[in-house]
Amino acid sequence: MANIQSSETFDVCIVGSGAGGGMAAKILTDAGANVIMLEAGAAWDVNDQ
Ligand SMILES: Cc1cc2nc3c(=O)[nH]c(=O)nc-3n(C[C@H](O)[C@H](O)[C@H](O)COP(=O)(O)OP(=O)(O)OC[C@H]3O[C@@H](n4cnc5c(N)ncnc54)[C@H](O)[C@@H]3O)c2cc1C
Repeated sequence: MANIQSSETFDVCIVGSGAGGGMAAKILTDAGANVIMLEAGAAWDVNDQ
């Protein structure tokens, strides 16, 4: 589990980057919100497929 320390603040925290979370992130960021997303699944390397 990553332990990231940051003082940045966000408008919205989305838990889970699945179908619902991904769509929520697109709509909210398109509307200008500063969004952070937390995902519990395994890391996925686009270059390792
Ligand atoms: C085998 C299979 C085939 C399917 N085929 C289709 C299809 O062909 N067409 C279709 O429309 N639907 C299909 N579905 C259904 C579709 O996948 C779901 O309806 C959809 O993914 C639900 O979206 P969701 O955002 O609610 O959850 P998910 O997409 O499951 O996303 C949830 C995310 O939250 C993360 N998460 C969970 N707990 C935590 C936590 N505590 N902290 C951080 N992250 C967390 C998970 O890792 C995951 O990434 C299929 C489902 C399965 C299982």
